[in-house]
Amino acid sequence: MNKQEARQRIEQLKKQLHEHNYRYYVLAQPTISDFEYDTLMDELIQLEQAHPDLKDPNSPTQRVGSDINKEFDQVQHRYPMYSLGNTYSPEEVREFERRIKKSLQTPIEYVCELKYDGVAIALTYINGALQRAVTRGDGMQGDEVTENVKTIRSIPLTLRGEDYPRDFVIRGEILFSHESFERLNREKQQRGEAPFANPRNAAAGTLKLQKSAMVAQRPLDCFLYSVVGENLPFGSHFENLKKAEEWGFKISAQLEKCHDIEQIFNYIEYWDHQRANLSYDIDGVVIKVNDYQQQQALGYTAKSPRWAIAYKFKAEQVETRLKSIQYQVGRTGAVTPVANLEPVYLAGTTVKRASLHNEDQIRLLDVRINDTVYIEKGGEIIPKIVGVNKDKRPTDSRAIEFIRFCPECGTELIKPEGEARHYCPNENGCPPQIKGKLEHFVSRGAMDIEAAEATVDALYQHNLVEDVGDLYSLTKQDLLHLEGFADKSARNLIDSIEASKQVPFPRVLYALGIRFVGASVARKIARHFRSIDQLARASHQDLVAINEIGNRIAQSILDFFQKKKNLEIIEKLKKSGVNLQMEPSREETASQNLTNMSIVISGTFAQHSRKQLQELIQQHGGKNTSSVSSNTDYLLAGENAGSKKLNQARQHNIPIISETEFLKMIDR
Ligand code: NAD
Repeated sequence: MNKQEARQRIEQLKKQLHEHNYRYYVLAQPTISDFEYDTLMDELIQLEQAHPDLKDPNSPTQRVGSDINKEFDQVQHRYPMYSLGNTYSPEEVREFERRIKKSLQTPIEYVCELKYDGVAIALTYINGALQRAVTRGDGMQGDEVTENVKTIRSIPLTLRGEDYPRDFVIRGEILFSHESFERLNREKQQRGEAPFANPRNAAAGTLKLQKSAMVAQRPLDCFLYSVVGENLPFGSHFENLKKAEEWGFKISAQLEKCHDIEQIFNYIEYWDHQRANLSYDIDGVVIKVNDYQQQQALGYTAKSPRWAIAYKFKAEQVETRLKSIQYQVGRTGAVTPVANLEPVYLAGTTVKRASLHNEDQIRLLDVRINDTVYIEKGGEIIPKIVGVNKDKRPTDSRAIEFIRFCPECGTELIKPEGEARHYCPNENGCPPQIKGKLEHFVSRGAMDIEAAEATVDALYQHNLVEDVGDLYSLTKQDLLHLEGFADKSARNLIDSIEASKQVPFPRVLYALGIRFVGASVARKIARHFRSIDQLARASHQDLVAINEIGNRIAQSILDFFQKKKNLEIIEKLKKSGVNLQMEPSREETASQNLTNMSIVISGTFAQHSRKQLQELIQQHGGKNTSSVSSNTDYLLAGENAGSKKLNQARQHNIPIISETEFLKMIDR
């Protein structure tokens, strides 16, 4: 791979990983498996190592994936919360042990622990009382979720005994047991809501609910795995955890001290087999150096401690027979082939269906009806077929003929150039597309009309709504005709539709469901164009001028505004008072100090990431542009600023300012 190709691939990987981080940590709705994510991350790490000059301090390899959600207050962590270096390879665990032995040259005690698959939390106790609970966030600061965490029964509000430090932090993992998770999903499905894909997503979603009364109804649990502070009773990890157990914390019973690599592998192997018998999910084991002084001597990378490593288990695979194929049409019209399987037990649930993604994938796997296939659970709720056991291919196996017409509305399918999937183009007449758009519109993260999630189907069946614009003309009377609606529930739904008019423009834009415009792209576009009208007028050139907006997204936005039906919907939304432009709220426009100013950023900075600086520029009314021209007002230059940009700024007499000067300009 030459430099140019490496640069392109690095950019592509960074973009993909940022998007997956957002889906995983903020939305709690990942679309790929952890293994796939880790494989992409590994590729980026290798490429950055091979090309150190292409390294970027904001790369996902250098930063902890952030779960920060603007709806909560952010609190600085007193002790940064790092991630863990992870591996799927036993050889890398051996290397880790060798490296530590070599650099310490003193006897080492390891602690092996289960790696709980939930959400990290830091709890601060002062004088024996729970003071604050903060999520990991970006490692430096996280969301304060104290009220929600107080509902978790296994987290003590006050401590037992008297020998706890006056002020300390204890960290752990919040999760659902399999039993609680299944109950939660059963209840969700009974209400007609989409189930959670796995216990981790359910825990992440629950912890970030706005109403702690709702959190209290869901039995979250918490295992604590490390004590941090200045006056701890012991100078080692294991002993402090055991002590914390006496103070009333729930500590894993599976902690084990190991003294050599063989003992470490015994632990790994034992739990790789036994994890199926645990009542909660683990995704690996963690191996930590026990002694704090030794930990300190080993130190940290930008993202994780050098004194610990996570060995992750590969997803479980099972074999079963593929009985038939069924085709599902999604909200965007994308057609997904789904395999009906002979039911089989896999990682805690019985699996009857698996995704085959698209026609190319079917060809690639060379899968046929009646074949014995290998299936695996990924990030999505539907497991996927990862291979075929050709030795077991029966004589009556049949090749799969991909359908040519939409199974829902009969329209001929199209396959856009460069795309792997088939689509039904009948966007406004194909029932699952219409319903899918409505579901997306009301979902959390979009318009957040929670009460409508379970009702979309009924509203559509009874011809009460045909598109998202119709939601705003619903009356209480309309709803009372529907089964299950009484005065109060109808009022609630109307009220939450009304409340959705306060949803800020970036989320409304995301809610419209324009193809390829996910939540983060919507934020970017909304901040740039400021209103739907300006966006509708944007040319291809205007769109691709925005950082990270490529041809594909630009074309999709242009297509969206070409369609008469979409313009009608926007008109309805406008008339109902939905936010179709940026409001100068505190978050969006902290001041007007940079109004109409165009600022270019170059280099790295001591106090803020480039992304944070970009946001600050926008919040204070300015515009961040990527290249210096005579229209640029300032060049904000940090360490290693590009010499080309510096020269251009000097040529055009553009002031070059430092981070401190910039912060002064915005009164920080
Ligand atoms: P991680 O989950 O691999 O490891 C760090 C975390 O482990 C800690 O923050 C803590 O919450 C947890 N943990 C559980 N038991 C622990 C114990 N006994 N001791 C210490 N920590 C323990 O790292 P991460 O940075 O939270 O997340 C990265 C991983 O998340 C990736 O490797 C990937 O597998 C997954 N991920 C997946 C997607 C996706 O789209 N599927 C996206 C982002 C991240």
